[in-house]
Amino acid sequence: MHVLVLGAGQLARMMALAGAPLNIKLSAFDVGTGNIVHPLTQALLGHGLDNAIEQADVITAEFEHIPHDVLDICEKSGKFLPSTEAIKAGGDRRLEKALLDRAQVANARYYVINSREDFAAAIDHVGLPMVLKSTLGGYDGKGQWRLKADSDVEAIWLEMAACIAETPNQAIVAEEFVPFDREVSLVGARGKSGEIEVYPLAENVHTNGVLSLSTAIVDTELQQQAKAMFTAVAEELNYVGVLALEFFDVQGKLLVNEIAPRVHNSGHWTQQGAETCQFENHLRAVCGMPLGGTALIRPTSMVNILGEDALPQSVLSQHACHIHWYGKDKRPGRKMGHINVCADNLEALSQELVKLADQLDETAFPAVRENALKLS
Ligand code: ATP
Ligand code: MG
Repeated sequence: MHVLVLGAGQLARMMALAGAPLNIKLSAFDVGTGNIVHPLTQALLGHGLDNAIEQADVITAEFEHIPHDVLDICEKSGKFLPSTEAIKAGGDRRLEKALLDRAQVANARYYVINSREDFAAAIDHVGLPMVLKSTLGGYDGKGQWRLKADSDVEAIWLEMAACIAETPNQAIVAEEFVPFDREVSLVGARGKSGEIEVYPLAENVHTNGVLSLSTAIVDTELQQQAKAMFTAVAEELNYVGVLALEFFDVQGKLLVNEIAPRVHNSGHWTQQGAETCQFENHLRAVCGMPLGGTALIRPTSMVNILGEDALPQSVLSQHACHIHWYGKDKRPGRKMGHINVCADNLEALSQELVKLADQLDETAFPAVRENALKLS
């Protein structure tokens, strides 16, 4: 099997690593340059979407901000999975919110803003405080505003109007501010014959709007709620592949924040902590193979490496730690790699995370120690 991935970043790289034992060959299409590259070495393999499509048995994607003309060409080839509708919904908060409503899953009250009049109507409909998000192009908390008081309306409107004017078809989605207790996500896979396997939920910690730490959690009641919502969304889309749902946990009741129609950063822990990792399961699904088991093998956390390209050698000596570099050039805040930390029980995981935190620069890894202590 030859799978073409739209996008040539770390997710395509980790899919290539996971596909090799199953003899699944991957190439990556860099949507920006039109180059076909090897997902591990970035070596140039060819150029042009038509060539890339021609060589592939299956086409999939590692991100959702893909021009619709590219998606439409892939769709016409009949090779694209999960579905171009799913990728479009992941890349446009208007479509995403409409999808969540169609699937009848709980999500924050919202209103779509195209004009100053809409903004006033949004304030009436949603109320303050609210979170405002650009509908296109947002990731890692970028393109967002928080409106807390009426006195800030005009200043925020100026910024939002500039954002709307900058990109064709741009709009803003106003959402009620959700006073959540924590954020969790569910990563799961749906196969070609409709079978669904989900991983245990992950509890996620964000630092400055970017995921810094994810820990697999066992919570039967929340897991059931999350799986029901996952199933509703996946079935609504007739989805094939790995899908992630991000949730707010508000006193034990889950609201969907957003979806990611792909393998997800909060599922990287599955490489060491689950029977089959999310990357392998995505490939199994899109290649029409049976899904692998998603059970938790052992308590596991994932620590994101942001803006750093080196770690102390001592981290390699800590047997609980498994380092995954992405081979990228260093830039401030950039996702450069992650460390999966495993242990036999939560108490031991907490101790291993503290041991890891002792070796790391506290400013570059602010969430590790504080959250490790909450685990035990
Ligand atoms: P990412 O790509 O990292 O998932 P994003 O840019 O797509 O981020 P969101 O996930 O929608 O954006 O929001 C980023 C973070 O902002 C959330 O993880 C959450 O902490 C906070 N947030 C978003 N929406 C709300 C809301 N309605 N109420 C309260 N907090 C929110
Ligand atoms: Mg998010």
